Amino acid sequence: MARIAFFSTQPYDRKLFENASDKHEFEFFETRLREQTVNLTQGFDGVCVFVNDKITKEVLQGISENGVKLVALRCAGFNNVELRAAEKYGVRVLRVPAYSPEAVAEHALALMMTQARKTHKSYNRVRDGNFSLVKLNGFTIHGKTVGIIGTGKIGQAFCRILSGIGANIIAYDKYPSDDMKKLGVEYKELDDVLSESNILSLHCPLTPETHHIINAQTLSKMKKGAMLINTSRGKLVDTSAVIDALKTEQLGSLAIDVYEEEEKLFFRDLSEKIIRDDQISRLMIFPNVLITAHQGFFTQESLNEIMQTTLKNFDDFESEKESSNEVSCQLIKDC
Ligand code: NAD
Repeated sequence: MARIAFFSTQPYDRKLFENASDKHEFEFFETRLREQTVNLTQGFDGVCVFVNDKITKEVLQGISENGVKLVALRCAGFNNVELRAAEKYGVRVLRVPAYSPEAVAEHALALMMTQARKTHKSYNRVRDGNFSLVKLNGFTIHGKTVGIIGTGKIGQAFCRILSGIGANIIAYDKYPSDDMKKLGVEYKELDDVLSESNILSLHCPLTPETHHIINAQTLSKMKKGAMLINTSRGKLVDTSAVIDALKTEQLGSLAIDVYEEEEKLFFRDLSEKIIRDDQISRLMIFPNVLITAHQGFFTQESLNEIMQTTLKNFDDFESEKESSNEVSCQLIKDC
């Protein structure tokens, strides 16, 4: 029986996992796993973490000294784990590589449609008894060019949706997909995708290479007034450059489900607190910015898949089985 410490536990995680297995023993902590909370891992065989836990080399050293031999991620992205240090300290890293990519793609669609048709504004207006259409004029997606950066599982799911809407889809990925080409997606160089897209949607992982892939220079190459959607990772976007581009109206609108400094904010109710992050505060008051707090994955279907795969990861860890969910330095170039 493996003893697993869950970190960043929300009420829905506890409900999902509490009685899900009689093979392993779970303890739930609301706090994130980071250097200051490593002492909580004493006596556990593994830790189960989420997107904003910081699994640095110091954390890996600390948890391995406490006897922990597994980091199980309840997510697909693994940019928050220093893989080289995990190898050094003999800690296995297992993840949930895919859980309803459609859920995130559909959330990107929701953000795109909301921005295009301003339904969030109509909702509030009608509730106030204001039935005027003034300033609600939107635009039709059909026939527009949507650029996708990263056509992996989520990017491909989004391309399939966009194809149904009748958008012209162009994409940038180092490894173009034949299936997407058959669907009608045209692969181009990054600069061409930037300059031709009316809407640009990010679906690549966060790596040293993609960190701030959207910056002052790439923003200046975009079509004036274009929409930017980010449902991938906050650090793909240089927030201060995006704020400048919104101020000059180079960027027409922004919809994000992830934010560069989200770990201090997201997944918490801060409604009675003073928000000290001036960049998100600035973003929140633009009329053409829509922010959701990392909820792309958050459907019942995804949660069930996350649970099933995570339980299997615990089993494979305990029986020392090889796993296709293993994350190691071999998987990425800049480890
Ligand atoms: P994936 O691994 O299936 O696809 C990633 C794609 O990006 C691959 O095709 C890869 O070749 C491409 N890529 C890598 N480096 C690139 C670069 N420099 N330029 C262009 N393309 C590049 O991953 P996925 O399952 O589609 O997930 C994508 C990302 O979505 C994850 O890394 C994660 O950060 C994010 N995500 C967000 C949520 C959410 O709730 N908002 C949920 C799950 C995943």
